[in-house]
Amino acid sequence: MYKKELLDVVKLTKQYLCEQGIEVENSVQEKGGLLDLKEKIKNCQKCQLAKTRTHLVFGAGDEHAKLMFVGEAPGRDEDLQGEPFVGKSGQLLTKIINSIGLKRTDVYIANILKCRPPGNRNPEPYEIAMCQGYLSKQISIIKPKIICTLGKFAAQTLLNNQQPISQLRGRFFEYGDAKLIPTFHPAYLLYNPNEKKLVWQDMKKIKAEYERR
Ligand code: SF4
Repeated sequence: MYKKELLDVVKLTKQYLCEQGIEVENSVQEKGGLLDLKEKIKNCQKCQLAKTRTHLVFGAGDEHAKLMFVGEAPGRDEDLQGEPFVGKSGQLLTKIINSIGLKRTDVYIANILKCRPPGNRNPEPYEIAMCQGYLSKQISIIKPKIICTLGKFAAQTLLNNQQPISQLRGRFFEYGDAKLIPTFHPAYLLYNPNEKKLVWQDMKKIKAEYERR
């Protein structure tokens, strides 16, 4: 059996087990893969956030996902559980993913920072500089076709660009072999529900690109 077919079988089996309520590891273990990287960085002390975190939040999803979401940093719930986007904004992100016919297990979800800034303050440039290499490595392992950044910090960091999110969102940019499209962060949508319609427009573009690739 070819590698891709084998991985499809593994993915379908994991989806079936998830639907039966049986917990499975979401990443396929491969040498030099995500689990290797997760193991290597689990005790990272490169910035001050190591002192205040409960858990390092590495990321979750399909190691071979075509679509990857990149947020800013873990919040309180994520820090407590060690999983990305599990609080209220995470529930909204799940709905956003479902709106284009996908499940969380079909995509990969990560953040620019792997540890929570105290009080959910904004990431500092030094912290981003220390942590960004881990995200780059994740992207190089996953090789997504589409990257959707959530909020200002993720878009500005990956595009190396200081334009406001209102000008960046909804546009496709080249990012290596992937297309990158910024949209609003779900946490912002919780306080600004009128902006959901713009995110819906962005998701329709993502769905069309997803089906093309
Ligand atoms: S935020 Fe990143 S660089 Fe800082 S301690 Fe956590 S994993 Fe290391």
